[in-house]
Amino acid sequence: MDCLFCKIIKKELPAEIVYEDETILAFKDIHPKAPFHILIVPKKHIDSIKSNGAERVVGGLVSVAKEIAQKRKIEGYKLVFNVGKEGGQVVNHLHLHLLVGKPVEMP
Ligand code: AMP
Ligand code: ZN
Repeated sequence: MDCLFCKIIKKELPAEIVYEDETILAFKDIHPKAPFHILIVPKKHIDSIKSNGAERVVGGLVSVAKEIAQKRKIEGYKLVFNVGKEGGQVVNHLHLHLLVGKPVEMP
């Protein structure tokens, strides 16, 4: 399947990975919309929040966002799902945006 984020997950395309476990990958957004902008994705391909069962993986994505924030002592942040073309979703692989208004030290 010709999915950009699946290719990143399979390491066929480069990305600045900030978190990885068996089911979830998080990496820096290539065109950041905030000083710190991470995308958190399930490794299993799911199109969007609209897909059947998407709600079952969302908790895991939010947990990873919380962990990334806690580890880097980020006090406040935005979590965003763009849903569908009209909702601003460009990449059709479910992803959670983690946006922080100020720069974050990377370990
Ligand atoms: P969305 O508009 O919610 O579909 O967000 C897709 C995001 O993916 C955008 O913020 C893009 O900047 C980002 N993006 C596109 N290509 C890449 C890439 N190769 N590596 C990292 N982020 C990407
Ligand atoms: Zn995919």
